Order: sequence, then C-alpha cells, then structure tokens
Amino acid sequence: GPLLAIESSCDETAVAILAPDGRIMAEHVLSQFADHAPFGGVVPEIAARAHLSHLPALVSHALAEAGLTTADLGAVAATTGPGLIGGLLVGAGFGKGLALAAGRPFIAVNHLEGHALTARLPGLVPGGVAFPYLLLLLSGGHCQCVAVDGVGRYRRLGGTIDDAVGEAFDKVAKLLGLPLPGGPGIERLAALGDAKAFPFPRPLAGRAGCDFSFSGLKTAVAQAVGALPVGAIPHATAADIAASFQAAVVDVLVDRAGQALKMLPQATALVVAGGVAANQAIRAALHGLAARQRIALVAPPLRYCGDNAVMIGWAALERLHAGLAQDGHDQRPQPRWPLTALSGSPENVSG
Ligand code: ATP
Ligand code: MG
Ligand code: FE
Repeated sequence: GPLLAIESSCDETAVAILAPDGRIMAEHVLSQFADHAPFGGVVPEIAARAHLSHLPALVSHALAEAGLTTADLGAVAATTGPGLIGGLLVGAGFGKGLALAAGRPFIAVNHLEGHALTARLPGLVPGGVAFPYLLLLLSGGHCQCVAVDGVGRYRRLGGTIDDAVGEAFDKVAKLLGLPLPGGPGIERLAALGDAKAFPFPRPLAGRAGCDFSFSGLKTAVAQAVGALPVGAIPHATAADIAASFQAAVVDVLVDRAGQALKMLPQATALVVAGGVAANQAIRAALHGLAARQRIALVAPPLRYCGDNAVMIGWAALERLHAGLAQDGHDQRPQPRWPLTALSGSPENVSG
C-alpha cells in the first residue's frame, strides 16, 4: 500500500503520500519562517510546538487528498535525524503512533539521505540517475561532496571546515538587513548588482581536495559592510555586495565540485541537492562544469531542493526496494547522524 512520510527536522512541517512506485499522491509543506522571523533565527522550542500543532491537520489533509484512510497505508516513514531534537521527537512520535495504530511498519529516515536520493525520484530525469554519482549537498546545516555508490552507501569526499554554504547566505542576508531564510533575497538582490564591485576572497579555491570554507568570506562581507558610511546601506551598494558575495560562492563551488569529480571519475552525474541548490546562478555555473566534464547536472525542481516530505518518502521506498529498511519502531531520533553512518556505508569512514 501507499507510504505516508513526515519531515520535521527543522522549520518546515511536511507530509507526503507516495505510491509504492514513487508516484506522488499528496504533498504539503508548511514553512514556519514567519513564526521565527521576530527572533532572527530558528528557535527550537517554537519549531517543536509548531510541528506539534500543524502535523495532525497536515496528515488529515494529505490522506483526504489521496482518498485514503490510515488503514490503507502500507507503511509510515519519518525523519529521525539529523536535526533539532524537539521537532524530530514530534515527527517520529506522530509517525510511530500512526504506524502502530494501523499495524504497519515504521521506517526511520535520515534527512540527508532524503536530500541525497531526491535526484532519483521517478520522472525527474528520463531513464533515472544511476550510481555512482557525485552529490553536492548544499543546505542550511551541511556542505559536503559525497560519493553516492548506492542506496545506503555514502563516502564523504570533503566538506566544510567551518560554516555551511546556506549559513553563509543567511549571515550575509542579516548583514544586509534581509529577512531569513536569506538565500532567496540575496539571489534577487544579486541580479541587480555588479559582481566585480567587491573583490571578496574565494576560500580554498585551487587547493587539492574538495573541502569548503565560508567563514573568511562572511568576515570579508562583514568588513565591507562595516566600512560603509554610517546609516542605511544604499540599495545599489547592497546589490553590489550581494552580487559579489554570490559570485565568490559560485567560484568556490565550481572549483570544489571540479576537484571532487576528479576524485570520482566514474561518476555518472553531478547531483546538487539541499536548499541552496535552488539558486539559479549556482545551478547555471554547475551546469557549465558538468558540460565541460561531459556528464549531466541533475538539480531537483525548486520545491524539492528545500526541506520536504516527498524526499523522505522516496528515501524510505529506496530502502524498502534495496532490502535495507528495518522496522524502526524502537529507533530513537538522533540530532547528529552523518550519512556515512548508514547501513551499507564503509564503517571506517567518519562523518
Ligand atoms: P540541513 O538539510 O542541512 O539539515 P536545512 O534543512 O535547514 O539544513 P534546507 O532547508 O535544505 O536546509 O536549506 C535551507 C538553506 O537554503 C537556507 O540557508 C537558505 O538560505 C538556503 N537557500 C534557500 N534558497 C536559496 C537560494 N535561492 N539561494 C541560496 N541559498 C538558498
Ligand atoms: Mg528549513
Ligand atoms: Fe534539509
């Protein structure tokens, strides 16, 4: 029967229902950004309470939209990490309760595996995306190059040594007085500015390996803002800063992804995932890199870049099909849960 999936690891409450072949029967995402806006960042306690108050109605809506009752479900899946513990407890607890009441298995899903496997959603790419592929995971909490050898088989080739790329977008947005999440606002502003106006650094570009660093870039932007005359930042200057910052990020990502592709020459595709993968300038530049390497760039539709439950449901189905899904009724939420700790990954690789 169909699978119901829940995502609640951060500030999106999301529910989806997928048919066993991956066809999407219902999907809902409720973003809480307005709840957190007055505080300038996600407040874990507010997030957990919001998930708790929205989940029952979202699940009812999804079931009604799919024309199902809980008795029709074949399984229930929920994100059990990594993420904010309060939200994970709410989503996993709700999912386990539903599964128990329906007498169905509960599948515990790793949020990052959801982002990692989104590219293989049926219908996204004609013929699908085959293993192994290079995953560039670009989100609010993560920034990694991952070799995806199969379902459950992930090798971290490199990652950030300080901030995640989405975090850098959010911090620069704050400096420019833009609302959170910062990425979309920076992208819009950057389109109006001169990317050569500010010579921001390209941290680690040209170095061997595929690690990332964004704290120095963020500091350079803070210094540029601090050097401006006191008062509100003129719109044209803010646009130039946004454009120059985004150009530095693009250059760094292309350089690092190029290095990572050298480390995985057998890659069938370059796959970009996570909220930052919604950025059109980043997509265009990575498309150019992939074309030069004669492989495909696979970037999910915008609604599947940020957090959603379709990716959680799809990861659960991939696990079921691969024979890797265990009953997760006794699996506890884990705030930290690296991709490389999943079953099938080489055990000697650290997260
Ligand atoms: P993680 O998946 O690592 O646990 P998360 O779930 O918070 O973190 P996502 O929801 O996948 O991350 O992505 C959110 C991030 O994406 C935010 O930092 C946001 O600013 C960034 N982002 C969203 N849209 C864009 C865009 N158009 N350009 C750049 N960044 C963007
Ligand atoms: Mg989010
Ligand atoms: Fe995410």
